[in-house]
Formats: sequence, C-alpha cells, structure tokens
Amino acid sequence: MKPSDKQFAVIGLGRFGLSVCQELQASGAEVLAVDINEDRVREAANYVSQALVANCTSEDTVAELRLSDYDMVMVAIGSDVNASILTTLVVKEAGAKSVWVKANDKFHSKILSKIGADHVILPERDMGIRVARKMMDKRVLEFQELGSGIAMTEIVVGARLLGQTLGDLALCKEQGVQVLGFKRGPEVIKAPSLEKSLEIGDVIIIVGPRDTLTRKLSSL
Ligand code: ATP
Repeated sequence: MKPSDKQFAVIGLGRFGLSVCQELQASGAEVLAVDINEDRVREAANYVSQALVANCTSEDTVAELRLSDYDMVMVAIGSDVNASILTTLVVKEAGAKSVWVKANDKFHSKILSKIGADHVILPERDMGIRVARKMMDKRVLEFQELGSGIAMTEIVVGARLLGQTLGDLALCKEQGVQVLGFKRGPEVIKAPSLEKSLEIGDVIIIVGPRDTLTRKLSSL
C-alpha cells in the first residue's frame, strides 16, 4: 500500500495536531481532523479531506467516527491531560488499529503506554534527539594510535549512510580492518550483525592499519 492510500484520523487540532494534519494531507493521505472546538475544526477544514466537531472522550461520539476503518489515529490533545488519557482509552476500545498519542511529560507518557497507546510522542524530547543527531551528522576522523601503524577510529553515521547495513560498508573486506563494536544511544554491541540497518547517530568502532582506515573513511 502506498502512503497516499492510507487513512489517518487526528484528534486535537492544536499547533501539533494541525501540523500533523497538514503534512499528512500534503503527502497525499486521506485525513479526518477532529476537535471539540469549532474554530479549530474550521481552520483544519482548509487543509484536510474531512473535519468534524466532536468530543472524543465520549464513547458514543467516537463510535460514530468509525475509527477502526483508519490505519492510524493520532491523539494530539496536550494541555488537558484527563481528556488525552480518556480519549486514548475510548479510541483504543473503539478498535482503532494503531493509536499514536502526544504526551506532555514522562508521567503522562507512562500512563499512555500502560493504557495501550501504540506509540507515544514527547515532541520536545523527540525534537531534541533529532537535532542532536543532525548535529552529529558527520564522520569523526579522530584516530587513536595503537602503535605499529594500527589505529582505532569511529564512524558516526550521517544521512549519507542512513538505511545501508553494516555489511554494505564492506569494512571487513579491507585488509586488516575489523569492526570492534557498534553503539546506538547508550547500547554497545560487541559483535554487531552485518545485517544491522544503520541509523543517524549510530557509531561504528573500527580498528586496522591507519592508511587503510583513512582511505576507506574518505570513500564512505
Ligand atoms: P500545541 O498547540 O502545542 O499542540 P497542546 O496540545 O497543549 O499544544 P491544545 O491547545 O491543548 O494544544 O490543543 C489540544 C486540542 O485538543 C485543542 O484544540 C482542544 O480543543 C482539543 N481537545 C481537547 N479536548 C478534546 C476532546 N475531548 N475531544 C476533542 N478534542 C479535544
């Protein structure tokens, strides 16, 4: 199924919910936008296929929205935590296939996970991670000399290597080069699988002849 064939519902049309609607609709998806506030619904109606006024904490109202027909439902109610939690529960019970929910903080996020949210978004935290990864979007070419022309270095995965596997980089095909480890966030893997797909910010630790490493790194 192409992304444009998908159907999404977004409940809560604050700045976050509205921008989700706009982006989904611009990508060619079909979007249902819902809010309890008529002004917000009127604004969303400028961008999306369908916009409705509804109180989504009400089981009967949500049942009428037939959310189980949608591929994904986003609950983007932020400041009213009670409404966010209740809406998530009601939407899950109405049989929505996949429910993504925006949380305000760690505690809100924990409750949402416990009541069955399929994915919880903490916008400030997630954006901070993305920005940090962007800042790391370069290779680090610092070598730790180990003697006899052997050195250790790191490759920080940037956009150019995104989506390739460790095997695609063919590091171990170079004479004397070995992958020592692989870091993703706090996790360190000693003997990573070559099938591992690379993500921005991953760090690959390699050792080998300094000249070979320099040549290989400049070709990546
Ligand atoms: P931001 O504007 O940054 O996204 P936020 O999530 O705190 O922040 P709010 O202004 O709280 O934004 O937006 C949440 C939206 O959810 C509001 O438009 C509000 O009317 C809507 N909302 C709140 N309760 C319900 C409900 N029970 N059913 C449907 N919509 C609701």
